Amino acid sequence: MTTPNRPGEFALIERFFKPLSRTTPFVRQGIGDDCAVLSPAADEELVLSVDTLVEGMHFPRHYAPAKLAVRSLAVCISDLAAAGAHPEAFTLALTAPELSESWLAEFSRVLAAEAERYGVSLVGGDTTRGPLTVSVQAIGCVPKGCALTRRAAQSGDDVYITGTTGDAAAGLAILQGNVKLENDLMADYLLQRFNKPQPRVQFGQALVGLANSVIDVSDGLLADLSHITRQSQVAAEIQLDAVPFSEALRSLPNQADALHYALAGGEDFELCFTAPAGLAPDIHKLAQRLAVPCTRIGSIVAGEGVRCIDAAGQEVLVENKGYDHFPQ
Ligand code: ADP
Ligand code: MG
Repeated sequence: MTTPNRPGEFALIERFFKPLSRTTPFVRQGIGDDCAVLSPAADEELVLSVDTLVEGMHFPRHYAPAKLAVRSLAVCISDLAAAGAHPEAFTLALTAPELSESWLAEFSRVLAAEAERYGVSLVGGDTTRGPLTVSVQAIGCVPKGCALTRRAAQSGDDVYITGTTGDAAAGLAILQGNVKLENDLMADYLLQRFNKPQPRVQFGQALVGLANSVIDVSDGLLADLSHITRQSQVAAEIQLDAVPFSEALRSLPNQADALHYALAGGEDFELCFTAPAGLAPDIHKLAQRLAVPCTRIGSIVAGEGVRCIDAAGQEVLVENKGYDHFPQ
């Protein structure tokens, strides 16, 4: 059951969301009926993921609708990237205290641009009244049997990370006034990394056939890597001095904060993956071809858990490995 419709709800959907609904070979029917009808190619399978962003929890109050549109689609598309899928469509459940036309106009304008960039059609959704919450379900396709998972890392694999981690967490800390940077360029970079995540969609697809396991970094590098180790029943050893830092993260006044963000800060939407050591040259070539920085940060070994090793070869215990909405 949904909350009572506001007058004009249907007109607003028609005006702001229907234009994002395109018919494609995959989308047989989009917005406007009870259900969307989707038709994957005979040799592919569907890949779905849903992500919810709640005001005050995942984004601050009075967050610009344009930024919310970018983030809400990106976080979900990133899951498709981690599965090696190509994005095709999405649905949108929007809950808001009121439907302001100017807010909707800005939100849908940017959502349309982002949807175009990813090549996804908005195929349906729901609009309800309540605290501001955006829930996006991303829908993609992958050749049958080829979806990348968290559960196939093998002892002897190398562990890699694309780009850098910790930037988005530092950006959020700046946004919240918890961290101050003198250098505006560096601060802007970190803010951008929070506001405009760039899911590694092409890279994820290219990892099919190379990577044994993949996860996108949403909760924090160590926390997400520990999902791979647990589900693959292996352990990981991370060389702390190999973990890449952006120049902006290095410029934080407190380097202990920087390391904490890089290891445990979430929301970077980089891909952490494992691949057989023998494929290192292929990974290197792929990174160059797609111009995606990719760094080897450790190895998969027998055992369980994620261990961090310092430059002297000593294990370093890292507390608070990442974000958990319902800690026990
Ligand atoms: P129903 O009552 O049958 O669930 P709704 O009245 O909620 O349908 O929605 C009418 C149509 O508009 C449906 O096709 C639905 O998918 C679409 N829709 C509703 N809200 C949104 C939204 N926020 N974004 C995209 N499509 C939406
Ligand atoms: Mg409905």
